Amino acid sequence: MRTPKKFVLLGATGSIGTSTLRVLRKHPDKLKLIGVSAHSRARELANIVDEFDVAHAHLNRKIDDMPNFREGTNLTFEAEALDHLAAHPEAEIVVVALVGAAGLRPTLAALEAGKKVVLANKESLVVGGQLVTETACRTGGQIIPADSEHNAVFQCTMGQPTNSLDSIILTASGGAFRDLPLGELKNVTLKQALNHPNWSMGPKVTIDSATMANKGLELIEAHWLFGLAPEKLEAVIHPPSLVHAFVRFVDGCCFAQLSPPSMTFALQNSLLHPKRFPGVEPTLDFSNPLDLSFSPPCLKRYPCLKLAQEALHQGGSAPLVFNAANELAVEAFQMNRIGFIQISSIIEHSLSIMESCNPKSLNELLDHDQRVRRLASERINSLSD
Ligand code: NDP
Ligand code: MG
Repeated sequence: MRTPKKFVLLGATGSIGTSTLRVLRKHPDKLKLIGVSAHSRARELANIVDEFDVAHAHLNRKIDDMPNFREGTNLTFEAEALDHLAAHPEAEIVVVALVGAAGLRPTLAALEAGKKVVLANKESLVVGGQLVTETACRTGGQIIPADSEHNAVFQCTMGQPTNSLDSIILTASGGAFRDLPLGELKNVTLKQALNHPNWSMGPKVTIDSATMANKGLELIEAHWLFGLAPEKLEAVIHPPSLVHAFVRFVDGCCFAQLSPPSMTFALQNSLLHPKRFPGVEPTLDFSNPLDLSFSPPCLKRYPCLKLAQEALHQGGSAPLVFNAANELAVEAFQMNRIGFIQISSIIEHSLSIMESCNPKSLNELLDHDQRVRRLASERINSLSD
């Protein structure tokens, strides 16, 4: 019998982290968790360490009422320790399931150490796509996309001749306000924005789905993962989220990947690739009618998608600016400091003010990210005064 593959799970307490643990419970003979991280949910992290007998745990922040971790756990708190965990010599696979640009550093650390990175954290590619992909090329590290749309493309292109790929169409549910009259968008609440019609996800990506900033980030992510020009990347609204992406080949044939809207499918595929085993959940039932409708997104309803597409075309630092301003704006919306429709105006403002440049190294990227955050923060302050 083969020994289980050892892996590290960064962002273990989140939505993707939880789905990854479901895959692990199903396949304990194939995977062994050796390291986990969280931001501040110490109790949840300690429970994961207990259940899966995890040797290494990292927490960004100590909380007042720290729980006891299983005896012998190597528990760390310093920022650099997260990078060390991502590069742990025993780990074959590193799942990056952190939210936001905070995923960039550990993704680079894992790739620098030549790991197979199961990447859910799309923001790291949006912020540092060039550096991330060049690092993987240089070290032989591998990026396996876990974002459902990109994992779908990954599956559809597997075994196809190089250069046969023409274009990619990512599907989007349209989020919480897909059918709301446009005039009512200005009054929507956080609770409504968090009520996603199909997917159960963390709060940031759920709000990003409602604005379709998420699909914008994913178009940029696809650009770096699959090397296609911006005009070869499309987004289409598909309300039931059964088809995750289409791949159009140069001969005009289109492939699609279908599975129910749960991340366990994409995560299992990326963790156990190239093998296939029974999944965690029941799959599609074709004995009932399935809705396979598709329609182009209305950019008036989704200005964040338009801004992301423009940033992708512009290139350089524009995707980074889009991402940082979006992260700040979403946070401000969650704190009830700005309204839902102001999210796009914060991003637009940052994109129009920030000078275009081409940060290359990690430090340059992080510096530029901080500058955008300061600018967006000032804008938010002026709007919420
Ligand atoms: P969650 O908010 O549910 O979880 C985020 C995880 O990252 C938690 O473990 C959290 O710890 C940790 N974390 C938060 N902030 C930081 C930080 N600054 N530094 C280090 N760790 C941090 O997010 P999701 O699981 O929904 O999303 C994770 C990533 O996967 C995102 O990039 C998202 O876009 C992507 N994704 C998510 C999908 C989904 O279905 N959820 C689908 C496809 C992609 P703590 O719990 O302690 O706060
Ligand atoms: Mg996705």
